[in-house]
Amino acid sequence: MYFADFGFDDDLMDGIDAMGYEKATPVQAQVIPLILEGRDIIAAAQTGTGKTAAFLLPVLEQLLTKPHDERSVNALIIVPTRELATQISQALEGIAYYTNISFISVYGGTGGALFASERKALETGVDIVICTPGRMISHLNMGYVKLGGLKYLILDEADRMLDMGFYEDIIKIISYLPKERQNLLFSATMPPAIRKLANTILHNPAEINIAISKPPEQITQGAFVVYEPQKPGLVKYVLKQKEFASVIVFCSSKLSVKKLYEELKRAKFAVGSIHSDLEQDQREQVLLDFKSKKLSILVATDILSRGIDIEDIDLVINYDVPHDGEDYVHRIGRTARAATKGTAYTFITDKELFKFHKIEKLIGKEVEKLPVPAEFGPAPSPAARTERSGNAGGEGQRNKKKRRYKGNGGGAKKPQ
Ligand code: AMP
Repeated sequence: MYFADFGFDDDLMDGIDAMGYEKATPVQAQVIPLILEGRDIIAAAQTGTGKTAAFLLPVLEQLLTKPHDERSVNALIIVPTRELATQISQALEGIAYYTNISFISVYGGTGGALFASERKALETGVDIVICTPGRMISHLNMGYVKLGGLKYLILDEADRMLDMGFYEDIIKIISYLPKERQNLLFSATMPPAIRKLANTILHNPAEINIAISKPPEQITQGAFVVYEPQKPGLVKYVLKQKEFASVIVFCSSKLSVKKLYEELKRAKFAVGSIHSDLEQDQREQVLLDFKSKKLSILVATDILSRGIDIEDIDLVINYDVPHDGEDYVHRIGRTARAATKGTAYTFITDKELFKFHKIEKLIGKEVEKLPVPAEFGPAPSPAARTERSGNAGGEGQRNKKKRRYKGNGGGAKKPQ
């Protein structure tokens, strides 16, 4: 389903376009229409599935198109950690960029100045609050938080909140909220304690369960953390380690496919390539040659990662980190089909460590980082994760948001 089909508000659509989202992920396709209908939701969805936008988009849409109380908190998102609060703030900053929606994140570990600015927003009204339980309770205890117009309650990573012992805190926060509201609960797992919480706070919820495919156990997975210029040498090194009968090397762009194909051809490998610039009959010929083992290596874009049945692949190399966890599972699932054993290596540049970490979270497993042979020179440290830093919910951001959008008569002001 395309976002254009949801009929979202124009300013929201501008944000979706700016984020580069075109098609809804499975969890979004299921959850968004139900939230727009006003249903309570209990959704089993992990990080990496697009769950954040799955609740942010329909809540934003409703805030933009239905009357809401400007002097109250309208939506409350409760999360277990500061990191998640920051991540959601960043997503919201992007998606809601062209709207007049205000938001603030409220979490512990920050100083008195921030507490005072949080207080001001909670006292005078802010559309969306993203909070961790402890800090929110500190504000609620002081009696100034305006919640009379609250319509949406979202619990994100609810299982983690319960693991961290936040059950009582959540119940306490909820005791301050108006009874008439829409409740959305997202959790990676559904243990009995989550069911209990759901029974306490949800009203006739729709249940959504997005099963994430996991890579088959018989695939040996490994990764090399490298600098971009080290990749061509390393791929040749890996290919020479063993007599591989059939290898697929996945690249993220056709340009990357073409360059690597030329490189391997020059090095006298029996290599073919598949990408969208080739005519259908050329692609079919390459595939035939690969299946008949005339070619032992195929360099390809993701067009080959789904649906095409080639047996007996003994090695898959991700020359670039795949776009997301599902793509990773599909790519490496090309090997070890029909219960045979297979190997999958991923090349991760220093800039892609964070992206790969998200994939590891989704598949629920840390992939072993293999040493880069000394002949390739020093490689980046696998620990040097390049997280997008900064605090989207920090004071500067909050004030910027308020300055930019509040007091302009409520009209959306688009940056030039
Ligand atoms: P989440 O599961 O909410 O942590 O989202 C995982 C990643 O997917 C984030 O980087 C989002 O920006 C991205 N994302 C969410 N929805 C979409 C979509 N429909 N199309 C492309 N990327 C998306």
